[in-house]
Amino acid sequence: MTTGTPRRTLLRAAVAGTAVTAGVTLTASSAGAAVTRPRSARPATPDQALLELSEGNKRWRTFRQQHPHETETVRQTLVTGQHPFAVVLGCIDSRVPPELAFDQGLGDLMTVRSAGEVLDEAVLGSIAYGVLELEIPLVLVLGHQSCGAVAAAVEAEETGERLPAHIQYLADQIKPAIDHSQHGDARVDATVSANVKMVQARLAAEPDLAARVSQGKLAIVGARYELTNQLVHRIA
Ligand SMILES: [Zn+2]
Repeated sequence: MTTGTPRRTLLRAAVAGTAVTAGVTLTASSAGAAVTRPRSARPATPDQALLELSEGNKRWRTFRQQHPHETETVRQTLVTGQHPFAVVLGCIDSRVPPELAFDQGLGDLMTVRSAGEVLDEAVLGSIAYGVLELEIPLVLVLGHQSCGAVAAAVEAEETGERLPAHIQYLADQIKPAIDHSQHGDARVDATVSANVKMVQARLAAEPDLAARVSQGKLAIVGARYELTNQLVHRIA
């Protein structure tokens, strides 16, 4: 299956006040300095949150993961509260666990996972909780290469056969994103990206989330994880 060339990195804009430049953080193969973020330095803005995820993914895909924020001290500190800096809406796929893919630890990410990143009231409520109650500055919709849920939705449409039980609901939700300009594996792959964009757009249309976006307090970003090289790259 072709995965295409990442067109954009996760972080497009340089973050003011740092030495890290745009485009480097997810595309450069050379090693950067390992970052051990003190817990007090929680990313507070959308750009800072994207940068942290970008750097964490770079550690992960270059086999320099730190498994941060797992110590006894961290665990005790977290007893009294949590301040995650990103909501990651990802797929249930066992090969794409957000905490590993972004090399984050306890208290860092609020992860919401459903097959094919499909939205329902529980997923929307979970994301809204993170953004509105915990004031998280970033929602990342994370699709991935070879998504079985997307493949099932494509196949269901092509064959006309209904999927068992509640799996049909997933297919129905993904269906509007199916890319009919492609065929075979390319159709599934294109639909993975289109589905991320569709979910991202639906979230962006939520009034409470849109208000925070317009205030510069929140970014809603679409991205893909490639199983082949473990790169996360921005697509919407
Ligand atoms: Zn999947």
